[in-house]
Amino acid sequence: MKNILVCVAWPYANGPLHLGHMAGCYLPPDIFARYHRLKGNKVLMVSGSDMHGTPITVTAQQEGKTPEEVAMHYHAINSKSIEEMGISFDLFSHTHTKEHFESARWILDTLDKAGYIEPRVSEEPYDPVAKQFLPDRYVEGICPHCEYESARGDQCDNCGKTLDSKELKNPRSKLNPDAEIEFRETEHLFFKLSEFRDTLLEWLSSGKEHWRPSVINFTRNWLQEGLIDRPITRDLEWGIDIQREGYEKKRMYVWFEAVMGYYSASLHWAKNQGEPDLWKDWWENDEAEHYYFMAKDNIPFHTIIWPAMLSGCGLHLPHDVPANEYLLLDSTQFSKSRRHAVWIPDYLDRYDPELLRYYLASIMPEQKDANFTWEDYVTRINNELIGNYGNLMHRVISFAHKNFPEGLSSNESTLPSLNDKVKEVHERVQEALEACKFKRALQAIMELSQAGNIELNEVAPWKQVKEDRDACEATLVTFLNLCRSLSVLMTPFLPKSSQKAWEYLNQEGKIDDAGWNSALEFKAEFKLQQPLPLFSKLNMEEILEKEMPPEEENELANVKPEITFDDFKKLDIRIGTVEKVQAHPNADKLWLLDVNFGGPTRRIVTGLRGIYESEDLLGKRIAVLVNLAPAKFRGEESNGMLLAAEGNDVVSLLQPDKEIEDGSEVH
Ligand SMILES: [Zn+2]
Repeated sequence: MKNILVCVAWPYANGPLHLGHMAGCYLPPDIFARYHRLKGNKVLMVSGSDMHGTPITVTAQQEGKTPEEVAMHYHAINSKSIEEMGISFDLFSHTHTKEHFESARWILDTLDKAGYIEPRVSEEPYDPVAKQFLPDRYVEGICPHCEYESARGDQCDNCGKTLDSKELKNPRSKLNPDAEIEFRETEHLFFKLSEFRDTLLEWLSSGKEHWRPSVINFTRNWLQEGLIDRPITRDLEWGIDIQREGYEKKRMYVWFEAVMGYYSASLHWAKNQGEPDLWKDWWENDEAEHYYFMAKDNIPFHTIIWPAMLSGCGLHLPHDVPANEYLLLDSTQFSKSRRHAVWIPDYLDRYDPELLRYYLASIMPEQKDANFTWEDYVTRINNELIGNYGNLMHRVISFAHKNFPEGLSSNESTLPSLNDKVKEVHERVQEALEACKFKRALQAIMELSQAGNIELNEVAPWKQVKEDRDACEATLVTFLNLCRSLSVLMTPFLPKSSQKAWEYLNQEGKIDDAGWNSALEFKAEFKLQQPLPLFSKLNMEEILEKEMPPEEENELANVKPEITFDDFKKLDIRIGTVEKVQAHPNADKLWLLDVNFGGPTRRIVTGLRGIYESEDLLGKRIAVLVNLAPAKFRGEESNGMLLAAEGNDVVSLLQPDKEIEDGSEVH
């Protein structure tokens, strides 16, 4: 028996969860935890809401509420979504608890005593109108890497680079957009992260063969670039007060304290159990294995920063950090701010959580980004989950119940090859789940179910029952055992329908307690319950009508006339010919175009890579806004912006429809 700690990234409590969170962060650890519990291992699975980030104070300000009101509101909504999706946390807590505050202060003190904390004076952005220092998200400006205009003081949402407010060009205060930001000296505590570089490199260099290549490569590159010491306090009054003189108006930085939630929630859970030392079974036990689940944007916090803090405190280091790639919605990234998302509460209002668990597990973004579409959702549910698995389960159980209402018995399987297949798949699923390869595990189960369907059609018990009732009974016992094995194997993925199947098969107790190896048992006797289909088919037309966004033409109705003809005249748009197309050396979505306007060519950087092939662009006559100020995109200067139309997933270049010379003006 192993002790396994399942740690799941903490969501910000500033909005509801969407499908991207579910596929990237919550479903994988739940499948993992359920498997290990079935296996008989001692699992503790914890997470909670991150209550203290600036996203929350910003939302609170916008909504005229206190940060605590906003955070508690979304914590309640997200706790409910998590429960309804069947995510089996032992504790889903939040960071605004007494337990978390105490643990966070203990970790800070421990690091301090070990010499890893140091007060330093630094220059921080100050808003002279609001008369206060500005935390990172309260500063916006132009990204020095990609020229994105609304980059924040901590990160650029366009190119993904982490930033420091000082690096932003033309920094502005979110509190007073017209205020000139000043940089003033102030004291903060710093964590000496740089001192952990060698320790972490050494830790990474052994026994990490089971890590995902993307995770280990990302981490190694980050470490090789060198680590910089980071401030762990900031000027904000919402968060954990560190109780030091001079720090009354400063709070612990959220990146520093949120990761401590794994530790504090373990202690909190033990306290709730009435056995306050129980957490030590995972944290003071060298044999315990700690797994951290998250989406890829969170990797450095879990492979570098948190391990550095853990090692500074002498606590247990992660065993694996199986970070996922992203789930896309109709091929673009989910976004809270752009409202481009399918929210979990909306989904749960209309559909069955088990269907979503199946669909997300079947497309899980483990190696690369995956794409959610409603068409694909309906197709996979109807054809795979219901057409293959649900169909086999229902055909076998309902036919057996109808023809043998008094019960069935047979001492051995009539199809040894099917038994061998069960054994082989059981082993493959186990291997895949232990290696956090969830998609592969599900595929193996579906393969077994498919093999069952093929055998069932071959043996055709509906013919046998008329010719040889005893042979039919033996066949059905064989297939009922297959259904029983399948429901055990499926439990980590589909806990509710597996339990239902368990009841139709009239098996004792809860399937959760049956044990992983019970999938290999052979039951000689069955007395069945009247079954209902485990799932109902989805209606494609109905769902598409409900879920597709309203027609684009409605958008035009909302356009307000805001600019004058004189404004329009300021735009200098010209026709040019694309003479050369090159890939951007370090951005895989950008092309570099050399465009001829009747004189020397101009270099334009465009995001059409992945949409237009280079040969489709070469020689094209295009319309370009040429009096746009030059802007750099990942180091390449762009001197204009080409015009294209975008709608219903199509991007289409604007082109003149008659022969016209390069440099012609567009009016
Ligand atoms: Zn950027």
